[in-house]
Amino acid sequence: MYLPEKNRIALISVTGDPAVEIGKEEAGGQNVYVREVGFALARLGWQVDMFARRSSPDDPAIVQHFPNCRTIRLTAGPAKFIHRDEVFVYLPEFVRKFLAFQQREGFEYSLVHTNYWLSSWVGIKLRKHQSLIHLHTYHSLGAIKYRTTNNLPPIASTRLATEKACLETADRIIATSPQEAGHMRRLVSAKGAIEIVPCGTDIDRFGGVKREEARQQLGIAPDAKVVFYVGRFDPRKGIETLVRAVAKSSLRGEANLQLMIGGGSRAGQSDGIERDRIEGIVNKLGLSDITTFLGQLGNPNLHLYYAAADVCVIPSHYEPFGLVTLEAMASGIPVVASKVGGLQFTVVPEVTGLLVPPKDEEAFATAIDRILANPEWANQLGQTGRQRVEIAFSWDSVGATLSALYTKLLTQPASVSVRTPQVAA
Ligand code: UDP
Repeated sequence: MYLPEKNRIALISVTGDPAVEIGKEEAGGQNVYVREVGFALARLGWQVDMFARRSSPDDPAIVQHFPNCRTIRLTAGPAKFIHRDEVFVYLPEFVRKFLAFQQREGFEYSLVHTNYWLSSWVGIKLRKHQSLIHLHTYHSLGAIKYRTTNNLPPIASTRLATEKACLETADRIIATSPQEAGHMRRLVSAKGAIEIVPCGTDIDRFGGVKREEARQQLGIAPDAKVVFYVGRFDPRKGIETLVRAVAKSSLRGEANLQLMIGGGSRAGQSDGIERDRIEGIVNKLGLSDITTFLGQLGNPNLHLYYAAADVCVIPSHYEPFGLVTLEAMASGIPVVASKVGGLQFTVVPEVTGLLVPPKDEEAFATAIDRILANPEWANQLGQTGRQRVEIAFSWDSVGATLSALYTKLLTQPASVSVRTPQVAA
């Protein structure tokens, strides 16, 4: 057996490849989280390997980001996009490939931090082969998702059982907000060690450009009232609520109101169904002349759209955290968000933005109008949001907190290790 190396860590994200373009198909917050946490830990001196399932034959097997940080794509199942609900059957192969990779490289990771339930299953299995510290971030909880799903997928019971086993047996569960921690306790299990470490954002990238300059670069009129959304096209993101709210806005027809929707793949990909549905609603409501579908946004434009917007709307049905909210706040613009999950942790109502009941298009319309009708107050909300992000939510502070926790877990004697009770067989 190979000796574990103390500062070699693996971030495992089977379905959230940290090196892909964000915004297409299922790529979103999980991919950003893994990449930014990996980079922040590498800056602190850890040897970081981030593992994902290879989902395209064109993707290189290894991406070397820095000398001490790489993305490693393991072939487990066909090298093409596979919906998350269909990936479970390929996990045993993923575990085998991970073990073979360690053997080839001649070391064993002493710590793995898994992301999303599929990866937690991998973490649980790896522990049967080697001694390691296991941390996990859920990103989404089946127990919440399935509350509002009519037709449960066949994988649902496996997911719920795995999420419970992981909470009860991992060395630490990372909750990204107190709200997410509360849901784990109430809906998943009363056992297990949870620690709250929020997500972060890039405070240099977001907030680094002035609104006038951003508008000039993007060709947006100075008098436009821009309502902005960016994120994955998934019904649970509530884009329909936003569109219906804009249709109800009292500013419609009066001011130069513009709805800009960022994210989504090209037609024919898995998220195209939701995109087509939303476009259909936009057309039906007569909003096509004021709505722009921007497609997938990234470098160099995403930060410009945030800077150019008057308000960013996050109409999700649920969010454990919600990175878009932080990005908007860091960009100095107010947010209107659903009063759910971690959005209640990041947004301070009436101070950095407004929180309204999810799916309530009237309430969203009123909140959007309040902000658009009061530019000075909107500016104040945006500035306070920026300050809040600078103080509490940078990736470097997230990395430092995780690094301290990893060190603590790796150095504590095995006998006092915070092992939670094993689930009954
Ligand atoms: N994102 C992006 N380009 C897009 C759409 C989304 O870069 O076209 C990014 C967005 O900026 C954010 C992440 O994807 O960093 C979405 O994270 P969030 O936590 O808001 O939602 P999730 O995808 O986890 O549901």
